Amino acid sequence: MPNKLVTLETRTLTPGERKFSRFLLFFEDLIKVPLFRCQRCGECILSSTGFTCSQRCPKRLRNGPCGGTGDDGSCEVYPDRKCIWFLIHKRSKWLGRLPMLFDIKKIHNWNLERTSAWMNVFWKRIDPPILFLNRTQKQRKIHGNDIQR
Ligand code: SF4
Repeated sequence: MPNKLVTLETRTLTPGERKFSRFLLFFEDLIKVPLFRCQRCGECILSSTGFTCSQRCPKRLRNGPCGGTGDDGSCEVYPDRKCIWFLIHKRSKWLGRLPMLFDIKKIHNWNLERTSAWMNVFWKRIDPPILFLNRTQKQRKIHGNDIQR
């Protein structure tokens, strides 16, 4: 399997690491909360969801909508709001990053909740942000006209 979906083998944070991570989270929040309405999952996937935080979904889904999205793009839980995955799709399309949505994100490691994602990248507990489309994603873009709609 090209992408390991479970991160159970990741060493859990020691109390000291958690304390330090929480301290750094304060500074991370200063940027990511106003800009992206970050929910502090500690396992950032912003770069592959069109720079729209998927964790704003009330069901905390990381791999697409639940299936309850209304025809107008509304959320099943809060019908007065748009489904976050509707917005992710729109933004990803606008940024030319739609093919990234087809890569399955790892199952969330809840041990990392409310820790600094920056620190988790540095400690190699999570994957770094994806800046550009890789070759497979570019090919999807060229050949998959259906995903560009
Ligand atoms: S760290 Fe998690 S909650 Fe925060 S912006 Fe990234 S994906 Fe969203």
